[in-house]
Amino acid sequence: MYKTSRTLAVCIGILAMPGMACASPTTLPPSLANAEQFNALADGHWLALEKNALRLLAADGREIASLALRADHLDSRSTPGGALALVFDDARHQSLLIDIDLALGRLAVGARLPEPAFSLESQCLYRDGQQLDHALLIGEDGQAEQWLLSGPAPRLLRKLALPPGVESCRVDDARHTLHIGEDGIGDWTYALDGEGVPTRSLVVAQTAKAQSAVRRNLQIVEPQAQTEPVARRGDAADDPAIWIHPLDPTQSLILGTNKKQGLLSYDLSGKTRQLLEVGRVNNVDVRQQVRLNGRSVDLALATQRDENALAVFEIDANGTLRDVARIATDLDDIYGTCLYQPASGGLEVIANDKDGRFVQYRIDWLDNTYVGVLLRRFSVASQPEGCVADDRAGRLFIGEEDHGIWALAADARADAAAPHLVLPVGPRLVADVEGLALYHGARASYLIASSQGDNSYVVLDALPPFAYRGAFRIGINAAAGIDGVSETDGLEVTALDLGGPYRQGMLVVQDGHNRLPDAPQNFKLVAWKDIARALGLE
Ligand code: CA
Ligand code: CA
Ligand code: CA
Ligand code: CA
Ligand code: CA
Repeated sequence: MYKTSRTLAVCIGILAMPGMACASPTTLPPSLANAEQFNALADGHWLALEKNALRLLAADGREIASLALRADHLDSRSTPGGALALVFDDARHQSLLIDIDLALGRLAVGARLPEPAFSLESQCLYRDGQQLDHALLIGEDGQAEQWLLSGPAPRLLRKLALPPGVESCRVDDARHTLHIGEDGIGDWTYALDGEGVPTRSLVVAQTAKAQSAVRRNLQIVEPQAQTEPVARRGDAADDPAIWIHPLDPTQSLILGTNKKQGLLSYDLSGKTRQLLEVGRVNNVDVRQQVRLNGRSVDLALATQRDENALAVFEIDANGTLRDVARIATDLDDIYGTCLYQPASGGLEVIANDKDGRFVQYRIDWLDNTYVGVLLRRFSVASQPEGCVADDRAGRLFIGEEDHGIWALAADARADAAAPHLVLPVGPRLVADVEGLALYHGARASYLIASSQGDNSYVVLDALPPFAYRGAFRIGINAAAGIDGVSETDGLEVTALDLGGPYRQGMLVVQDGHNRLPDAPQNFKLVAWKDIARALGLE
């Protein structure tokens, strides 16, 4: 967050570029403190993009106008009497133009561009030599679009191919160039004013650097099935859970979060059973036959990021999910969660904040609803997400994304101050540490972790001394037409016999890049027998 009373060099109407003239240092008004992005406008006005609003401020920081909007990627250009702003509307996945009239003190919603066919990484405005305005939309994989905004309606001018991994859009109007940094190569400028073959020139070449890490040769297993893609592009699918059908395990379900839309359930062939549009749910976990006040119930809990709450879902005997309650938390940026069903009965939930704080609540059934009773707080030094409780051993595993996997007592009365570092980030576990899950087999229990940085999965003994049992990747199943898996966030595993290829259980993983063909993200299903064979597990 920005501190108040900062003094910065501010560029009026354009993003700061090396060598560009900027306004003299300006003291920023304190009312910009909550702005995630801001632009300086004419006559000392400010345009501030906050988490849930776009605000127009006077030079003294007073609010003149405000639009309720959850958006990012703000850019603006001055117009006679005001300004034109571009934001990306996160709720509708569209680039949105805002007309700003400074004389009337008004923000007006203008044209929307169609939802891009790629996940938007960045966008910005460009004003050409004819004073026509353009929007540049940059997506993952180096796809980009240039839209002409001037005229009766925005029109697609052309498509561009950029290097992959471009995270920022920086345009120099005076030179008609787009500036792109390409990791390992250098800085490029792309000409924006021509409509012929796109041209580019290398401005600063980087000295060739060796690949940071040698890719380890690991065993590869193939997925048996995949779920239907989620209905949102980009990094949307996140965390799966498994619900076991009480009578017929082949009718068990996979639950999966779409962190841009809600909670989904799928059958074991990957077909969507249910979509509950409950907003930005990130992590989900399930426990069954939970006894609360004499009732026995199957529950799923998910972190709800719009509300910083835990969303509670009841699951009936057929696997139908019902959104039944919210448990408020005092976290500011709720993120990961897992459930703990102590041997003594009842249900507890552990949830974390991106800042490293954890809270642990007991779930009670009171006055016909679910409530949380705070049991303890603890924290790690940096961003955590994945966690899993070993109900049998009374142990909690937590993942600190840049640091490693920790184990501590799941019992809230225990001292959480001294967790044990089970596996640090290093050659065997490449940051981010993401999803964690437990396989309780007949002869052994294993902890599986997503080593997101090298697209692999690490298997450890779930009991001390947490011996390393191996790692694997998930490759292409060419026969079934299913792509491999990369950049996995959440995962879940069961040792129960789900029939077919899953007689020894099943691993479900989120796939960060759904190919064959390109599509929104989904979840892949892997037979445990293939993992056991690859790693020589009993
Ligand atoms: Ca992701
Ligand atoms: Ca994460
Ligand atoms: Ca994939
Ligand atoms: Ca995640
Ligand atoms: Ca696919």
